[in-house]
Amino acid sequence: MDILKERILKDGRVAKGGVLKVDNFLNHQIDVKLYNEMGKEFKKLFDDVKVDRILTIEASGIGIACVAAQYFDVPVVFAKKAKSKNIDGEVYTSTVESFTYGKSYDITVSKKFILENENVLIIDDFLANGKASLGLIDIVKKAGANVAGVGIAIEKGFQDGGKTLKEMGINLHSLAVIKSMDDEGNIQFED
Ligand code: 5GP
Repeated sequence: MDILKERILKDGRVAKGGVLKVDNFLNHQIDVKLYNEMGKEFKKLFDDVKVDRILTIEASGIGIACVAAQYFDVPVVFAKKAKSKNIDGEVYTSTVESFTYGKSYDITVSKKFILENENVLIIDDFLANGKASLGLIDIVKKAGANVAGVGIAIEKGFQDGGKTLKEMGINLHSLAVIKSMDDEGNIQFED
């Protein structure tokens, strides 16, 4: 998606540890017009699949998922990053290893908000090693629902997440795939 790639080149900053900072338009300050174009693009990319619900993870996935959901006309559910309180068995939980913070955390989704046999589209801001997406996929499977696909704004193609998801047979679409980035701030995209 050219406008996203151009924006990354203009405003993205390569930080230590292979982290791309896009706080200016995606992760802190939000360019809603850009989000809107991203939402339309997700709809185009997943137009041939049945989507009953969009699942994302707090916090950065929520805005993107909400804008996209208007084009799919479905509700958004976000996984909460909280200590699992599954005393009554009312939530699905999974554990995610955080790429940006280097520690594991639990994610939870109420059983009320993912139903058996539904088709769930997962949307997130970044794909790095794939742990966040795998946690969300795990929750969809625990609910007995189907993963309609995974839609990512920015995939770092030099990390393993994309490969892992494709090997699992997941229908993955990323709006911008970074082939390489270096400490001097040079960023290259895959075609
Ligand atoms: P993964 O679980 O695929 O390793 O990493 C994806 C999650 O980590 C995303 O939800 C995102 O919040 C965060 N993340 C991974 N890499 C980056 C990055 O380069 N920049 C930013 N801003 N977030 C990242």
